[in-house]
Amino acid sequence: MPNSVDPNSPIYRIRVAVPVHLYDCFDYKLSAEQYQQAHIGARVAISFGRRHLIGVIVEKIPTDVPLNSSFQLKAIDALLDDRAILNEQVLSLLTWSANYYQFPLGEVIQTALPSLLRQGKPYNLLATVWNVLKPSAENELKRSEKQRNAYKLLSVHPQGTSEHLLNLSGIENSTLKALQKKGLIDTALKPQDFSAPPVQMAQMPLTANPDQRLAIQQILKAQNKYQAFLLDGLTGSGKTEVYLQVMQEVLKKGKQVLVLVPEIGLTPQTIDRFQSRFHCHIALLHSGLNDSKRLQAWQYAETGKAAIILGTRSAIYTPMPNLGLIILDEEHDLSFKQQEGFRYHARDVGLYRAALAKCPIILGSATPSIDSYHLVEQGKLTCLELNQRAGNAIMPKMHVIDLKIAKKQHGMSQQLLDEIGKCLARKEQVLIFLNRRGYAPVLLCEQCAWQANCPHCDAHLTLHYQPYSHLHCHHCSTIQRLPSACPACHHTSLKPIGMGTAKVEASLQELFPDQLIIRVDRDSTSRVGSWQKIQEQIHQNKSAILLGTQMLAKGHHFPYVTLVAILDIDAGLLSVDFRAPERTAQLIVQVAGRSGRGEKKGDVYLQTHRPDHPLLLTLIHKDYRAFAKQTLIERQQALLPPYRYAALLRCESRSQENNQQFLKQMSQQLQQQSTPVPLPPASLPLIDIWGPIPAPMERKAGRYQAHMVLLSAERAKMHFYLRHWWQQLLKEKPSDLKISIDIDPQELN
Ligand code: ADP
Ligand code: ZN
Ligand code: ZN
Repeated sequence: MPNSVDPNSPIYRIRVAVPVHLYDCFDYKLSAEQYQQAHIGARVAISFGRRHLIGVIVEKIPTDVPLNSSFQLKAIDALLDDRAILNEQVLSLLTWSANYYQFPLGEVIQTALPSLLRQGKPYNLLATVWNVLKPSAENELKRSEKQRNAYKLLSVHPQGTSEHLLNLSGIENSTLKALQKKGLIDTALKPQDFSAPPVQMAQMPLTANPDQRLAIQQILKAQNKYQAFLLDGLTGSGKTEVYLQVMQEVLKKGKQVLVLVPEIGLTPQTIDRFQSRFHCHIALLHSGLNDSKRLQAWQYAETGKAAIILGTRSAIYTPMPNLGLIILDEEHDLSFKQQEGFRYHARDVGLYRAALAKCPIILGSATPSIDSYHLVEQGKLTCLELNQRAGNAIMPKMHVIDLKIAKKQHGMSQQLLDEIGKCLARKEQVLIFLNRRGYAPVLLCEQCAWQANCPHCDAHLTLHYQPYSHLHCHHCSTIQRLPSACPACHHTSLKPIGMGTAKVEASLQELFPDQLIIRVDRDSTSRVGSWQKIQEQIHQNKSAILLGTQMLAKGHHFPYVTLVAILDIDAGLLSVDFRAPERTAQLIVQVAGRSGRGEKKGDVYLQTHRPDHPLLLTLIHKDYRAFAKQTLIERQQALLPPYRYAALLRCESRSQENNQQFLKQMSQQLQQQSTPVPLPPASLPLIDIWGPIPAPMERKAGRYQAHMVLLSAERAKMHFYLRHWWQQLLKEKPSDLKISIDIDPQELN
């Protein structure tokens, strides 16, 4: 290229979102020819400082926009895609998210791309295709049935068929290789086929009950426009059947359906139900996939080949050419909110996406969030109720056990143990819930009251005996050997206090020696495939004790469970977080909902020291909706979310004093900026600032944590001031201090 540039010739520029933690996008120059070929939403290789990065084009700058001449523009390295791989809808969604959650667009965009594309790998990976070389050679394969079957299947595809599809039909690569060795078949590399096969019904729908029918009709009326629904249905009331019947109509029109669930690994049943109802491509998007599987699933969604996209939180950013319906199941679940880095909430992003796509969205839950009920009050969500359990199942009966007066063995009341015994004698399953893994939460010296604490956190170390004896901090993962004597007084009177799932398991083994006990927690399911095996065990054994944490509470359908026990609900009743009652009520109702889902009726036992707690009384004598109604009134009176919008500023450093000093100074600035002059008399400030205060766990992994909460009744105005202020904060903060902002925080820790 000639060095002398004609000053009048146009300069071709694009604006690129670069994956760095900086809030700006950056301009690069390219040739006229490249400019022609550049597409917004396509990837581009660039150098940034000394690094080589992959960015996404967000703007083609018109050539008549003058160039800031003091700036030396760098040229791009290469264009990587010949079309937009992030379509306009998804780019708008990402831009909106970056603005709303105050996070750099370049990093936000990363959420939407599979890692192979983030690394700059080509979009069109070639697929391995197998072809028959020698037709009608079946006779040569008399001895191996496997090889004969594979050969037969291949023979009906004269154009060859992809290894992926062969694998899906149960044909192993070793079989193919064996046939290749015999010279009967061979491989070729071909571009992948992204054409979409027609969707077919594989199974008839169930006959909907009246509540289900009404819900289905209402949603179908909104098929071609944006409308948001809250499907508020009791546990076991058949919400999934409503999803399936609505999906059927949407799929028939050739549109795609996006289904978000809290955790795919935990609910393989959901996938099975979709697969057995519809014959179509279902793309699964979750963190358990390897990179190439994830890329392929994403491509199936992005090209329209997959009709159903089933994923966890980040799947909300998957590009789809024909999105016609979004379903968010268990919408109250906290895992829809990302708790670190880019702290988005897939439910709120989902509502915005449905509006962009002009399609309906269904938020389903047996225990909807208070936020969603508030949206119903405001007319932004249409509430559809399912008020009976589907089929013949009825709701379980709740019983409260007062731990203050109950006779106990191993932390379980005699009454509960008797009921467990009776249930097992009837050859039914018992489910015991305790949200604490490990053996015991505290190790105490009975002589001098020394407790095993984490050296880096304000927290006790948890005692574990498996896979070996050790003390473990569940907050920073510090591991210590179990001391044989008290480090303070050298007595050997160390005693575990309190109970975790491992201890309850040991106690139950002692009390019910002949019973199968299945423990489900992060420790027992950490190996790949173990959860799958556990689930099979649960479905194969009619009589068993299932014992576990949250993992057991989520959305499962265990038809043999007729007794559910919650061993300790008190921590949730006593927490200071204003959302704690909501979480506790949801947990109780969800765990209870695992009982009596089959033919037989179920019971639920709650152990507590606070049997007269209003939350429990409301849930037992009324229901979750009554609890929600009451909670809405309380939140409104206290001017708490959802009646005001919140943002949480977290600050962390080596000294609490530094945190406090910085936050105080910044809070004054925000107050000055956002307060109109003159101050309106006797009204709330536009932005109400709480704190700074030390975080509930002040020291974590050796660093001090502080909080500041901002509350405002006016979301748009608050965000306006916040944006400016946040940029200022980033500039002014001392370098050893880490800050982050959490818009619409779900947890105050
Ligand atoms: P939810 O998702 O609301 O907890 P599910 O969709 O899992 O409930 O339904 C619970 C059970 O009821 C499932 O076994 C399902 O097959 C069954 N079911 C749902 N709808 C009907 C119906 N209309 N008739 C008969 N059985 C139904
Ligand atoms: Zn001691
Ligand atoms: Zn720790």
